[in-house]
Amino acid sequence: MDKCINHDYRDAVSRCRQCHKPLCGECQLVTEEGIFCSKECYGKAEVFHKRVAAMESRKKRRKRLPAFIGCFLKIAVFVLVVVLVLRFVLGIDSIDSFLDLISGLKENFLSR
Ligand SMILES: [Zn+2]
Ligand SMILES: [Zn+2]
Repeated sequence: MDKCINHDYRDAVSRCRQCHKPLCGECQLVTEEGIFCSKECYGKAEVFHKRVAAMESRKKRRKRLPAFIGCFLKIAVFVLVVVLVLRFVLGIDSIDSFLDLISGLKENFLSR
C-alpha cells in the first residue's frame, strides 16, 4: 500500500485525481469533481473540465447539422408518401390529373 505524500507513516486511502499522488484521509481534498491533493490540482482539474465541457458543447453544435438533415429527410419521406398516396390511391400520376382532381373537387363544392 502506498503512503501519503505528506505523512509517510500513514497508508494512502486515495489518490489525487490530477497528479495521482497517494493521499491519506486527512490530506485528501474531496470535491464534486473528485479527490485532489491540493487546491492547485483541483484548479487544474477544473480548468481541464471546463475545456472538456467547451469541447463537448462544440461537438453538440456540430451535431445540429445532421439533425437538420434528418428533419429534411423526414419531410422528403412525407412528401414521397403523399405523392405515392396521390398516385396509387387517387390515381394521379401527373400535375394535370392532380389539377383535374382539384377543379373537380371545386366544382363538387360549388354545386352543393
Ligand atoms: Zn494533486
Ligand atoms: Zn496525509
